[in-house]
Amino acid sequence: MRYKGNKVIEEGKQGEATLVNATTTLENTKKLYIESYGCQMNFSDSEIVASILINDGYATVADYKEADVILVNTCSIRDNAEQRVLNRLRNFQGLKKKKPDLIVGMLGCMAERLKHELVEKKKVLDLVAGPDAYRDLPKLLQTVESGQKAVNVLLSREETYADISPVRLDANGVSAFISIMRGCDNMCSFCVVPFTRGRERSRDPESIVNEAKDLIENGYREVTLLGQNVDSYKWNITAKGEIINAEEPVVKFAELLEKVAMVSPDLRIRYSTSHPKDLTNDVLETMAKYENICDYIHLPVQAGSNEILQKMNRGYTTEWYLERISAIKRYIPECAISTDVIIGFCGETDEQYTETVDLMKNVKFDFAYMFKYSERPKTLAERNYSDDVPEEIKASRLQAIIDMQLEHSHLSNKKMLGKTCKVLIEGISKRSEEKLFGRNSQNSVVIFDRDDLKKGEYIDVLIDDCTSATLFGKVTHKYTKR
Ligand code: SAM
Ligand code: SF4
Repeated sequence: MRYKGNKVIEEGKQGEATLVNATTTLENTKKLYIESYGCQMNFSDSEIVASILINDGYATVADYKEADVILVNTCSIRDNAEQRVLNRLRNFQGLKKKKPDLIVGMLGCMAERLKHELVEKKKVLDLVAGPDAYRDLPKLLQTVESGQKAVNVLLSREETYADISPVRLDANGVSAFISIMRGCDNMCSFCVVPFTRGRERSRDPESIVNEAKDLIENGYREVTLLGQNVDSYKWNITAKGEIINAEEPVVKFAELLEKVAMVSPDLRIRYSTSHPKDLTNDVLETMAKYENICDYIHLPVQAGSNEILQKMNRGYTTEWYLERISAIKRYIPECAISTDVIIGFCGETDEQYTETVDLMKNVKFDFAYMFKYSERPKTLAERNYSDDVPEEIKASRLQAIIDMQLEHSHLSNKKMLGKTCKVLIEGISKRSEEKLFGRNSQNSVVIFDRDDLKKGEYIDVLIDDCTSATLFGKVTHKYTKR
C-alpha cells in the first residue's frame, strides 16, 4: 500500500473500497463492493461487515460496476460528510438503471436518520443497517432478494462483535485496527455520535488480546486500539464502579494496554481517541513502561475558551487540559500530541476564538484536525443554541488556524533534524518507487531509500530533511526479528 499523504488516515481514505483478497472461491459467488466514509471506527466496521458477508457466500470486488451488492458505510459527523455520501449514491442509482437486480444499501451513522427519506420517499436504497445490525445483514439481503426493502437500525447495549474475526481491508499487511469498544456516553453538545452509535460498551479483553496475537502471527506489526473514548474502557465493572464478577479481574484501559503490549515486543500499539477528562496517569505510566506502546496521543481539545468548552459539555477546562499536557510530557518527554479543534461553535466571539488560537500557540501541537462547526440534528447544541457564527467568519477563522498549525507541524518536524528514530516500514512512497515510507513512534511519516528493505521491518533512520508533513533520512540500522 502506498503512502497516501499526511497523518490524516480518514480523509485520505474516504470512499475507499473494502477489497479483500482471496475470497473468490466456488462458494463465494456473489460480488460485494463496500465503500467507507468517516472515522477509523467505520473502516474497522467495514472489515466486520466483510467478514460476516464472506461467511455468507460473498466475495469482495474493487470496482462497484462489477458488484451484485453495493454497501456504503456512512458518516454523519458533519454535514459535508453526509453530502458526499448522498452524491455518491447518485452514481450508484445510475448503475442501478442499467442493472436492475443490483442491491444498494447504506450502513453506519446516516442509517437511522435517513432511512425513511432514502428507502421510502426517494427509493434510492434497498437496504439500511445501523452500526449494531451487521449480524443481520445476510437476512436483510435475503429480504431484498425476495423483492422487499429491508431496514434494521436498532441500537444495542451489548453488541461488540467480539467473536467476529474481521477480514482486513486491502491493507498494507503491517498495521491494523482493533475495535475495543463501541458507542459513547459523553453527550458533547455538538456531537451526533451518541445518537448514531448508541451507548458505550466495552469488548471482552481476551478477545482483543487474541485478535492482536492473531495479527502478529499473520505478519502484522502495528495495531491501533479504537474507541470514541478509550480511557473509559472498562471490563467487569459498571460505570458506577460496581464489580460485576468478584472472581474475575477488573480491566480498565491501562491494564488493557499492558495486556496488548505484552503480546509481543515486535507489535507496536497505538490507540485513539483519548478524552482529556478521562486520560489518567496510570495510562501514561503504562505507555512510559513499554517501548512498543507508541509515543503519540491524540487528545482533542475542541476549544480554548472555558465558556465554549462548557457549552460544548466537554467536562474539562483549559487549565485541566493544559495540566494533562504537562502530565504527558512528564511521563513521556518525547510524546507527540495531536488534537481536534472546532471553530465557529454557537456564539463563539472573537475573544473566545482568540483563546483557542492562544491555546494552540501555547501547546504547539504536532498535528491537528481542524473543523468548522456543523450543526447536527438532535444534538444538545441544535436544541439549545443558535448556529450563529457567519459562514465567512468560520471560514476565515479556520484558515487562520490551519496556517498557524502548518507552522507548528513544521517546527515539530524540524526538531527531529539530526536525530535518529525507529521506523516501522509500511510500503513504497507515493513519489518514488525507489523510496519506502514508514512511521516513527510519534506517528510522523518518514521517507528513506528502498535498498533491500521490506515492509514490516523495523529500522533506525537518521533524519536529515523535513517538510511540515514528512521527515526524510538515511537508514542507519536494521533490526532483526526477536
Ligand atoms: N470521540 C472523539 C473525541 O471526543 O474526541 C472524537 C469523535 S469525532 C468522530 C471526531 C471529531 O469530529 C471531534 O473531535 C470533533 O472535533 C469533530 N466534530 C464532531 N462533531 C462535530 C460537528 N458537529 N461539527 C464539526 N466538527 C465536529
Ligand atoms: Fe462525540 Fe464527545 Fe463522544 Fe467524542 S466524546 S464521540 S465528541 S460525544
